[in-house]
Amino acid sequence: MSRKFHVYGNWKLHNNIAASRALADAVVSATADSRDRVVTGMAPVFTSLAAVRETVPAHPHLMVLGQNGYPAPKGAFTGEISFALLKDLGCDGVILGHSERRQIFHETDAFINEKVQAALATNLQVVFCVGETLEERESGRTWEVVGGQIDAVLPHVAADLRARLIVAYEPVWAIGTGRTATPAQAQEVHKQIRDRIAQLWDATAAAECIIQYGGSVKADNAAELFACPDIDGGLVGGAALDAAGFAKIIAAAAAIQR
Ligand code: PEP
Repeated sequence: MSRKFHVYGNWKLHNNIAASRALADAVVSATADSRDRVVTGMAPVFTSLAAVRETVPAHPHLMVLGQNGYPAPKGAFTGEISFALLKDLGCDGVILGHSERRQIFHETDAFINEKVQAALATNLQVVFCVGETLEERESGRTWEVVGGQIDAVLPHVAADLRARLIVAYEPVWAIGTGRTATPAQAQEVHKQIRDRIAQLWDATAAAECIIQYGGSVKADNAAELFACPDIDGGLVGGAALDAAGFAKIIAAAAAIQR
């Protein structure tokens, strides 16, 4: 089967409402030619989600995502947002397990698993991020770490919810550093992830699962990364803040024949 490319922008803590609306509008226009071939996503800050939702037309290849969420549906959790509220706002999905959440906010595998299961049960698409640090890579522990992150979550996903889970492999040393994994480095881990999914789920689910690469993806390196057989697009940080550059990344995916 041939998987569609999914290229999502993680806007992190950038852009007020007006700037988010303008960026979303520019992305929608600039990616129109690739719309049938590439699923394009945008993940603004919480306060801009409603404006971006208003700006982005409802289309199966245009996704609006939250950057986080809390697993409980309601209660005494000051400052948190539930997945049901993201859904209520019109979100299509949510990014979970990002290395910034793991490192800065000390989110554990167990907590991320709770979030993933709750978000999937709320009918959101989940972009589940995994990745090793430089120290872990250099000490030969890449798969031990990434495989452990996968094993903490995927076995718990019910068969009927699996199609909603995207895995994003994001080596921590490549995020926001300008240092990208080589296509060979990225492909190696993507293949390991897909093989593990086949063991945990089944061969069909593994063949269908979208696995994005993230870590300093830019217009000038996207084509070679997306040409790898197990890389199904990207989760893009810095380069997603510029609509023209982001559109070039999407065009690079659209140009690849699978
Ligand atoms: C990210 O935030 O997920 C990311 C990959 O960022 P950048 O593209 O800036 O490295």
